[in-house]
Amino acid sequence: VKFVYDFTEGNKDLKDLLGGKGANLAEMTNLGLPVPPGFTITTEACKTYLDSGEEPAALRDEVSTHLKALEASMGKKLGQADNPLLVSVRSGAKFSMPGMMDTVLNIGLSDKSVQGLAQQAGDDRFAWDSYRRLIQMFGKTVLGVDGELFEDALEAAKVAKKVTVDTELEAADLKKLVTKFKRIVKTEAGRDFPQDPREQMDLAIHAVFDSWNTDRAKLYRRQERIPHDLGTAVNVCSMVFGNLGPDSGTGVAFTRDPASGHQGVYGDYLQNAQGEDVVAGIRNTVALAELESIDKKSYDQLMQIMETLENHYKDLCDIEFTIERGQLWMLQTRVGKRTAGAAFRIATQLVDQGLIDEAEALQRVTGAQLAQLMFPRFDDQAKVDQIGRGIAASPGAAVGKAVFDSYTAIKWSRSGEKVILIRRETNPDDLDGMIAAEGILTSRGGKTSHAAVVARGMGKTCVCGAEELEVDTKRRRMTAPGGVVIEEGDVVSIDGSTGKVYLGEVPVVPSPVVEYFEGRMHAGADDADELVAAVHRIMAYADRVRRLRVRANADNAEDALRARRFGAQGIGLCRTEHMFLGDRRELVERLILADTDAEREDSLKELLPLQKRDFIELFEAMDGLPVTIRLLDPPLHEFLPDVTELSVRVALAESRGDANENDLRLLQAVHRLHEQNPMLGLRGVRLGLVIPGLFTMQVRAIAEAAAERRNAKGDPRAEVMIPLVGTVQELEIVREEADRVIAEVQETTGIELKLAIGTMIELPRAALTAGQIAEAAEFFSFGTNDLTQTVWGFSRDDVEASFFTAYLEKGIFGVSPFETIDRDGVGSLVRSAVQAGRATRPDLKLGVCGEHGGDPESVHFFHEVGLDYVSCSPFRIPVARLEAGRAAS
Ligand code: ADP
Ligand code: MG
Ligand code: MG
Repeated sequence: VKFVYDFTEGNKDLKDLLGGKGANLAEMTNLGLPVPPGFTITTEACKTYLDSGEEPAALRDEVSTHLKALEASMGKKLGQADNPLLVSVRSGAKFSMPGMMDTVLNIGLSDKSVQGLAQQAGDDRFAWDSYRRLIQMFGKTVLGVDGELFEDALEAAKVAKKVTVDTELEAADLKKLVTKFKRIVKTEAGRDFPQDPREQMDLAIHAVFDSWNTDRAKLYRRQERIPHDLGTAVNVCSMVFGNLGPDSGTGVAFTRDPASGHQGVYGDYLQNAQGEDVVAGIRNTVALAELESIDKKSYDQLMQIMETLENHYKDLCDIEFTIERGQLWMLQTRVGKRTAGAAFRIATQLVDQGLIDEAEALQRVTGAQLAQLMFPRFDDQAKVDQIGRGIAASPGAAVGKAVFDSYTAIKWSRSGEKVILIRRETNPDDLDGMIAAEGILTSRGGKTSHAAVVARGMGKTCVCGAEELEVDTKRRRMTAPGGVVIEEGDVVSIDGSTGKVYLGEVPVVPSPVVEYFEGRMHAGADDADELVAAVHRIMAYADRVRRLRVRANADNAEDALRARRFGAQGIGLCRTEHMFLGDRRELVERLILADTDAEREDSLKELLPLQKRDFIELFEAMDGLPVTIRLLDPPLHEFLPDVTELSVRVALAESRGDANENDLRLLQAVHRLHEQNPMLGLRGVRLGLVIPGLFTMQVRAIAEAAAERRNAKGDPRAEVMIPLVGTVQELEIVREEADRVIAEVQETTGIELKLAIGTMIELPRAALTAGQIAEAAEFFSFGTNDLTQTVWGFSRDDVEASFFTAYLEKGIFGVSPFETIDRDGVGSLVRSAVQAGRATRPDLKLGVCGEHGGDPESVHFFHEVGLDYVSCSPFRIPVARLEAGRAAS
């Protein structure tokens, strides 16, 4: 194998081997741009070194060969006493890890060659400045000396000379500083600063290899999900000098504005400076545009090179350059990072410039960027009064009056107030309050607490686990550190993107992208709409190419209508349990408590028209589009009062001697229905099979609602979905009953109803016997939340808070399997169930309705395995549309 590539040998597609920096230095070299010559040591060499602790045997010779060639082309030798070749030794991995790894400049300077450099350049000051920089950088990164010791010495030299900036130090001062720096190295590292240039270079190369494994580099990779086994390349690049006086300098630039995407001159320049000086803020930089008046020739050349780079990379590039006595040198380029908004703008701008086509434009944006653009934000100019900070659980910016219970949240919001629901933690009882609130703040619980999960699903702002805030729901107040008390009605602002909590109203800027999806803003030519116009076009590309359809998880007409505006092509999951809450709770309690068939039938009879009403509204909102209705899924105890609360109430009543008959029965029922593990207990189809009449009532409500809509000239497309099926027998029993009810309704109304009946696939057994289950199901909807729970044996409500952090830290998974589908495990069950299901029933309709339906990565997987649609919360629909388009293009 070859471990070293000259810059003339590589190209931009060799990032795996040469790292991003090396690959692009090669690309620029081959484009004929002025790049100082050099060579790149591969990531393979690094990996060998890191694995075995030694560099590969062949490396030393290969480096020698390339160094000789470099010396020959430059006409001087590394560290040559009278005319030294100097090089930089630069890190550069496949993915950019800004500032995480090391680079050493001016390698090759020694006590001797510093004199030669001074003579060649005719500038003593410059030579000694370069030498002190080398010892400083080398001491710190290669020999592990505390960098502050050098900085302090430099500072002391400036103070002694009564100057403020480094350029005011003269040759003699810098020479003294070099002596001092060498002494620091000697005492701190226990060795002399090496005078042999090749030794300097070899040590620097090893230091760059080692910098792959520093703690900060590892942490960064974990956060950015960059694999730990890639290694870094090392670039050895002949030095050019921006610190040769006022006609020299160094700068950074973007080929267009990374914030707006607009073309123009964006960057910073610093005269008489080297390397990091520009970004380190040691002196004030000037705007790149000023380079035109400082050095017109270099400026014009730079502009031309930036155009060449854009046309070549067909994207925004960022660059590093240096001017040495009027000669421009390119030191780095890469496709630049940009804001989410700029990503959309740039993609469409490049299409207009004819540089990329629509399919490529789709690859230039991501669903995550779109999601980011959909949240309102606090005005960053505003003055704020922060009172606490929790976990950024669901992004967005929300302002409202503090309320401490759901009842007040609902009451106040009905009268037009905006409220923030503040709880220690939330539970299913808070659902209506959460819906009514602008945002949710809790003092307990993590990213997977009830509040966080539900809020994310609703696209509602949430900060959870703000532990320093003491919530007292009884006294309706919250105390912040320092004794600040927030009473009910006081205005607070919460930022779900940062987790920050503020007292008072912070002004909010709504998302123009949401305004556009809601139909309140049109993609016009106005400058403010530029972003919206770009999003509009990209969404149109995505819709044109995607194969996956996108449906919404929605339980009521309002959500359904919103989902439609966002582009939903139906409802993939309507959870009927949400229709059992609120005022209807009492009816449901009676159903559960019923002792006789007659009692039970009575309460079902009362529930029927209510359910029917819900469905009529839903069918109307989704007229002409499929609506999948899931029959009751959760265990019954969820509809009963809390055991402890109820026990206390009963005990108190008993001690007063006025025990309430109904409460006693309730308590009995609560005990009877108590399960150790309700997630695996009496729920879903199991409920339907043991509570006579329950599913029948629901199916009847669906059928009658559909008939009514048909009478009203509507086009209802209902699909009945049976949850938690594990075997085809369960489905067959429920199905037989359902078919009977539907036939009955057809008979009495005289309307032919085409109701599809299908099932969720959310248990491993269902997936494994999908071929049999498809005999009785017209469609499958993969319930990947439950499937993930049951395949991994993870209780979702518990594990995320208990040990997932440890798992993520140990790298057992890079992301929670509840967030992104586990392709290898859960995914492979989905894949085989798709095949088995279709083998039985070729026209089987296939969808997914777990949280994964709105997750970008997972959408790509569902596209690959050939599902017909994904279903997700209304707010995620545009994201799913976009990612479905990206997956197909
Ligand atoms: P990073 O990856 O942190 O940007 P670099 O390897 O790009 O590190 O180098 C750090 C700084 O030194 C940059 O400003 C770069 O432009 C400059 N630099 C690197 N090599 C040379 C060189 N051969 N001549 C002049 N400046 C250089
Ligand atoms: Mg750089
Ligand atoms: Mg489920």
